[in-house]
Amino acid sequence: MTRTSARKSALKARASLREEDTDLEDDAVQTHEEEEESEHEAPPPKKRRVSTTAKPHPRSRAKGALKDFLDLPLELVLRILGELDLPTLVHLSRLSRRFWRLLRGDKSLHILWTDARQRSGITRPTAHGMSVYQQANLMFGCCQGCGKTTNKIDWVLRIRACPSCYRDRVADKQTASFSKEVLEIAPFSQMDSSGGERKTKHYSVHDLRHVDAMLYRVVRTKTDALDTKRDCYDYGDDSDDEGEPTEEHDALDWTYYGYNALTFKYRCFGRMEDIRSKDDFIHDLTVVRNKRVADANLMVAWFEQEEKRRGEERRKILETRRKDIMARFEAEGYKAHHFDFDAFRDHPIMRVAKELTDSAFAAVHVEVGALVAAQRHRQDVQIIAQESNRLRDLVSREYNRLRQDEEYVREYLFDPVPDIYEFLELEPVKAMYRIASVDEVGKRTPPPIADKARDIARAIGQACEAAESAFFRSFVKILAEIETAREVDPLAAPPAATPQPGPTLAQSAAPTAHPLQLLPADLDELLQQPELYQDDLLLRAICIFQCLACKHVDNGIGILTHKCSVGHHSLRATGYQLLRERIEAAIDVVVALEQELSATAEEVGEFGHVLHCECASPAIAHDWRNVVLHRARYHRTSAEKPAIVVDTEEGAMKRVFDKHVESLGQQSTGYSSFYPLFGGMRF
Ligand SMILES: [Zn+2]
Ligand SMILES: [Zn+2]
Ligand SMILES: [Zn+2]
Repeated sequence: MTRTSARKSALKARASLREEDTDLEDDAVQTHEEEEESEHEAPPPKKRRVSTTAKPHPRSRAKGALKDFLDLPLELVLRILGELDLPTLVHLSRLSRRFWRLLRGDKSLHILWTDARQRSGITRPTAHGMSVYQQANLMFGCCQGCGKTTNKIDWVLRIRACPSCYRDRVADKQTASFSKEVLEIAPFSQMDSSGGERKTKHYSVHDLRHVDAMLYRVVRTKTDALDTKRDCYDYGDDSDDEGEPTEEHDALDWTYYGYNALTFKYRCFGRMEDIRSKDDFIHDLTVVRNKRVADANLMVAWFEQEEKRRGEERRKILETRRKDIMARFEAEGYKAHHFDFDAFRDHPIMRVAKELTDSAFAAVHVEVGALVAAQRHRQDVQIIAQESNRLRDLVSREYNRLRQDEEYVREYLFDPVPDIYEFLELEPVKAMYRIASVDEVGKRTPPPIADKARDIARAIGQACEAAESAFFRSFVKILAEIETAREVDPLAAPPAATPQPGPTLAQSAAPTAHPLQLLPADLDELLQQPELYQDDLLLRAICIFQCLACKHVDNGIGILTHKCSVGHHSLRATGYQLLRERIEAAIDVVVALEQELSATAEEVGEFGHVLHCECASPAIAHDWRNVVLHRARYHRTSAEKPAIVVDTEEGAMKRVFDKHVESLGQQSTGYSSFYPLFGGMRF
């Protein structure tokens, strides 16, 4: 304890001694051009504590090496020192007394410092009074008072000091023991250590002392000049300006009254000369302050820039290190994608901003190796999936482009043209984009669809066959259900509709039992030997399927090759709907047309647009499909079934025409005005 305090006081004593030295020198108004460079404000090199327990200092080995460095031929030493930047030079100079003597003692090495400053991209200060040594110490050094390490800096006042020395060197309005006038004109700072702003003004005590001394001479000269002016020039002028200082007096040019212009040469302010009035003096001080603020901003900006540059450098080093580690694993058979996971990227070894050494790698080899090995399979699966998706996108893009000319695809490639998602699930298409192993990643492009058209057409054919056989089974099942229902209730059988030629209303035909045999054979036999019956049954008009996407209606064969108007043609049975009520409605229609139930959709379709439902009679005639849909929807139960009206095409057309004429008759009053060209006609 006692030793520490003794040491402290010794330090203080030395510091104050140095301060006195400085003051002595600075206070003297120098007449000759002062040498700019001085080392008085720079600290001596840090002294190492001499420990009684002779613990080897961790840095002693490095220090030894540096000592050896100084034993090299001087020319070589200087060449190496000539490559260093300013922070390193400061660091070296503080490392040992030998370095200090070499770097700071030898004035001829001054150029080493200015070159280093330039190399480091640091601007030479514009305000006077800061040598390159002082600037280096301000930016990278230690307390200007005691040499302790500190980050407390005032960039404008150019002071770096530990808290206790700072109190001696920096003052504000409360703590400064100088007149208000001095505080008004002295250079001040409102910048904090990190370049930010602070509210109160701060002054360098050192500056204040000089400003005070200069101001004393300025005021004295001004007063003398005023006296002379009053005594010799204004004689007889009984003005009442009894020595009150006014702005006019501050502007008074005293050389006019025989006084010399003043020149001050304080190191901290540089040369201030040709001062002819107090205003001149104040103006020069303002210029000093503005220059110092500009310098301060530049220094702060340099650190910001440097931080950015270091961050960038660090990122680069980390990136190189990561790539190095990856390369070492790649030599063991891993691929780039195997490292694409967080635990690898964030592993502590990746965060050391150093070049990778063999030993550093060896230390984590097993651990990181296990990490990568554990992820390997997952990463493989992922990259394969990614690559497959990429190729699949290419295939689907080509397919969509081809489908813009669907007729071409039907004609030359395959028919039907399936929905995109079903297309991509066809085996030959999958083979175009599926990747089997990581070795294929990045090396494949899908073949053109046209090259695989034959395989695709075969796969589509197979899919349609599967759908047909599913259609067959569900159709047969529904037919069997309908038959069973009729056996129980013969009235449920469809009425034998009488054809009604001409525009007559259909009579409500009495329902009669119908001896229609829906199934051509036994249900079991049908299901066991579908090949004998399937085509026959699916081609029938009463086997009525609807596309769920575009609502198109056709029999079990035709529906699978329909042109889907919304582009979602399905190859699957689930893409189509077969409803019992539609089958029953279709049976009614076929019967009404006096056809066999085995009539195909084509045969029934030949009747054309001759049908309509009695519920809306007379109505425009439709084809069988529309009437089936209408009746399945609105007349499901036999109790409410209106008759189906069968017309001839001529009859239907005439009916429509009559209706048209009738509606014209209703509108005839204003007709000629609508159609002036028909003016001669009367309706
Ligand atoms: Zn200090
Ligand atoms: Zn469709
Ligand atoms: Zn109807």
